[in-house]
Amino acid sequence: MKTNPDYALETLAVRAGQERSQFNEHSEALYLTSSFIFTSAAQAAARFSGEEDGNVYSRFTNPTVSAFQERLAALEGAEACIATASGMSAILSLVMALCSSGDHIVASNGLFGATQQLLGTIMPRFGIQTSFVPQTDTTAWQAAMRPETKLLFLETPSNPLTEIADIAALATIAHARGVLLVVDNCFCTPILQRPLDLGADLVVHSATKFLDGQGRVLGGAVAGPRSLTEEVFRFLRTAGPTLSAFNAWVLLKGLETLQLRLTEQSARALEMARWLENHPKVTRVHYPGLPSHPQHALARQQQRSGGAVVSFTVRGARAEAWKVVDGCRLLSITANLGDTKTTLTHPASTTHGRITPEQRAAAGIGEDLLRIAVGLEAVSDLQRDLARGLALI
Ligand SMILES: *Cc1c(COP(=O)(O)O)cnc(C)c1O
Repeated sequence: MKTNPDYALETLAVRAGQERSQFNEHSEALYLTSSFIFTSAAQAAARFSGEEDGNVYSRFTNPTVSAFQERLAALEGAEACIATASGMSAILSLVMALCSSGDHIVASNGLFGATQQLLGTIMPRFGIQTSFVPQTDTTAWQAAMRPETKLLFLETPSNPLTEIADIAALATIAHARGVLLVVDNCFCTPILQRPLDLGADLVVHSATKFLDGQGRVLGGAVAGPRSLTEEVFRFLRTAGPTLSAFNAWVLLKGLETLQLRLTEQSARALEMARWLENHPKVTRVHYPGLPSHPQHALARQQQRSGGAVVSFTVRGARAEAWKVVDGCRLLSITANLGDTKTTLTHPASTTHGRITPEQRAAAGIGEDLLRIAVGLEAVSDLQRDLARGLALI
């Protein structure tokens, strides 16, 4: 079924991308097959050469994966989308497809820990250098650009401090120099923010987070104009960081409830942020939906709400932060986010534990910092649980 792009987001989330088989199944079909058969030797040759469209092998394309790609493209307002095995493989594929040895990237110093490692320590071995700049300082982005700069890469809001990058302003800077702007839209999802509408060239996702939304599978995606996603596809079909059909099916079902979940989880996060802001053991709350957030006005312009992730600092350092974590009985101590179950993390010793202390300091991630990714439990239960932990310090 070709879905009219004029449909509202929640309609696209449920309907877009489905192509029914001869059985007319109502729910999306799961095609667990590694390869596809041909009617003749001539057709096999035509499919392999690309003369004829159609599936060949699931490392290249698979109908369930294609349905997920189309649905996510529709939600992001993108011409096309390529799904990958994880968020990190989406970022790797994008860099491998669009950059060569000698190229340069400017990225936010508040990026997800593994992304910082990939760009900062792995890619330089292949001649691709990255300069890291403060997320919110637009002039620093401009100053870091070189003649060989290919990409600007950011995440907004950042993890875990929820700093906001001005997507439209950075798109203008990038395009003036013929550079592409890439936005990791993991925290907001297209329900809360559509970077392509604001001028970004490509969106990347860790589908593992809100798109699945129930902590079940890993997945990733790159969405944007077909001219760019085709480059990513050429890398992926050869190198193989492909999304499995099973995971694509789970993610398709995740997208159907994305709008409901994001709306509810954001509303709960705002309540939690307000409550934390008034808690005597909490020294600071980072949440774009609070007027106290330094970029609250910008967040209101480019996001529909503050999102579901709140971070906060507690009185003390690592020992006190760990006491809060260990005092909770309901919140899950896990690094994942975007789940219906609320998660609690100490970033300095987990998600950001493998970057250097200097990089951590530059990114503003202290030992007193905790992050919650708010799920769908009752706010009163979440507050009671955190209050128990906070009472221990
Ligand atoms: C988790 C995450 C990633 C990496 O995704 P995986 O699916 O774990 O590989 C990338 N960016 C952000 C913002 C993330 O939160």
